[in-house]
Amino acid sequence: MTTCKRCGRPLDAADLVRHERGRFVVVHCPDCKFPLGRYNRHGDDPGTDGPRE
Ligand SMILES: [Zn+2]
Repeated sequence: MTTCKRCGRPLDAADLVRHERGRFVVVHCPDCKFPLGRYNRHGDDPGTDGPRE
């Protein structure tokens, strides 16, 4: 659980709005759309990024 830094709404992971941007997933507050973070997608589109590890 986290809290939106803009509007203060308590947010479960399931409440976050996910928006895929290429190889990243960006998560937003559902109320004010404040971006709360982004992370790499894993396991998708192997081969577009070159060899890994
Ligand atoms: Zn918010």
